[in-house]
Amino acid sequence: MSNRFLNLSTPGIAGLRPYVPGKPVEELERELGISNSIKLASNENPLGPSAQVKKVLAGEIDDLSFYPDGSGYRLRNRLAERHGCDPVCITLGNGSNDVLDMIARVFLGEGSEAVFSQYAFAVYPIVTQAVGATAKVVDAKDYGHDLDGMLAAVTDKTRVVFIANPNNPTGTWLDAKAVRAFMESVSRDVIVVVDEAYFEYVDEADYPDTSTWLSEFDNLVVTRTFSKAYGIAGLRVGYSLSHPDVADLLNRVRQPFNTNSMALAAAEVALADTQYLARAIDVNRQGMEQYEKAFQQMGLEWIPSVGNFITVDLKRNAADIDKALLQQGVITRPIANYGMPEHLRISIGLPEQNQRCIEALKNSL
Ligand SMILES: *Cc1c(COP(=O)(O)O)cnc(C)c1O
Repeated sequence: MSNRFLNLSTPGIAGLRPYVPGKPVEELERELGISNSIKLASNENPLGPSAQVKKVLAGEIDDLSFYPDGSGYRLRNRLAERHGCDPVCITLGNGSNDVLDMIARVFLGEGSEAVFSQYAFAVYPIVTQAVGATAKVVDAKDYGHDLDGMLAAVTDKTRVVFIANPNNPTGTWLDAKAVRAFMESVSRDVIVVVDEAYFEYVDEADYPDTSTWLSEFDNLVVTRTFSKAYGIAGLRVGYSLSHPDVADLLNRVRQPFNTNSMALAAAEVALADTQYLARAIDVNRQGMEQYEKAFQQMGLEWIPSVGNFITVDLKRNAADIDKALLQQGVITRPIANYGMPEHLRISIGLPEQNQRCIEALKNSL
């Protein structure tokens, strides 16, 4: 598509291909002339928001004429208690994507490099390219991050390394020993972002909670989100944990009211709602087993995942299967944009949704 203003934009933007989100359900249903579709395409929480979140949001409505608390004072204090750190270590974002963007704007630019893995989360190349920095993409190992390869790719121009643990769209994860070894080997002048968007779902003994390593590594930035296990993706709230000096720099580019009042109130409640979280994790574990069992029966290979989604190898053009699934009202995510044209990423839903997806897949293959 030609764009008359392209040559007026910065070189980074001119070369950028935007993130393509899944289509809204309503639009898709209209296009296909169907109703009653299910969306298993964006790793959203199938439980919907918790009752407590809905209640607190109703109470917030009368205050919508006021700006939100730009410092996010209360939520940051709750998060600081949770993580056992000082509130100054916490930077709130309009989703954790916002924080990733701030990191790029602070530390990357023309002439500098960001290192991340092949198949890594799509936002890393976008925020890197947007500021005109160079992406060093390191070949994946068994679909996961090759930390030795990533370490070897670091040069004196590298300012940021992005590590998704677990990674989306592959669901692969790195153990504590591997991440720690990386932190101990990499230059302290390289910001290492460990993106833990799916932290709450991971049930592996060797999976690291890197938020507890902040006092050891001042170049470590950990990102978390309320979009997945906490079930409020639509409100957009995420955050980073970092050294106060990193947080100070992030705050220089942060929009003063980036996290809105509904999001602040809901996140505070969601953080305390341990019952909802436990249910979300339980439903996810059951759903994961459901898909694994079905794929096994169907003779399909999948990438073992510790997230709230599973990526299956269809060994044929996944776009065709995606179309066939759409006709049956099942929305999943083909990931050709990640260089995986024969894989399909399916977000774990409620048991009956998963069953419907499995049936539709059987019909389509
Ligand atoms: C979903 C996801 C996020 C979270 O994005 P938000 O902006 O917080 O909604 C971050 N990183 C990865 C790898 C993800 O898959």
